[in-house]
Amino acid sequence: MRRKAPDARMDGFQGGCLCGQVRWRAWAAPLNVRVCHCGLCRRATGAPFFARAIFALQAFERTGETTAWPSSRRIDRHACARCGTAMFAAPKDPPARIGVAIATCDAPDALRPDCHIWVDDKLPWLSLADGLPQYGQGFVARSA
Ligand SMILES: [Zn+2]
Ligand SMILES: [Zn+2]
Repeated sequence: MRRKAPDARMDGFQGGCLCGQVRWRAWAAPLNVRVCHCGLCRRATGAPFFARAIFALQAFERTGETTAWPSSRRIDRHACARCGTAMFAAPKDPPARIGVAIATCDAPDALRPDCHIWVDDKLPWLSLADGLPQYGQGFVARSA
């Protein structure tokens, strides 16, 4: 029997790492979903780009142990302490938000990007044809 996909409107957004040790849940829609093409995200995730949803921490919870590493003065990156899945990018300013890898969502298609950022650093073999806004560098999500 085909398993029914989680209904994000009913259950909120939730997800976890590959091994299941880290879980997260948000019960409000994300402020923004962006695909980042910067070199830091590329290295931190081991992937050509990093798609993340920005949630307000007041509507977000997580369980499980992560290892954190500051990839810049502004952002701590969190990976599962056991399986290493890149999970969160936590900005220090403002600290009231968290970026969550949309690929870790139980219903990954429930979180769809709004824009591409740091396109100036995008890998040249990747062509973007989704019609979404593209920013050469960063983009500040609207306030919570
Ligand atoms: Zn894990
Ligand atoms: Zn980035």
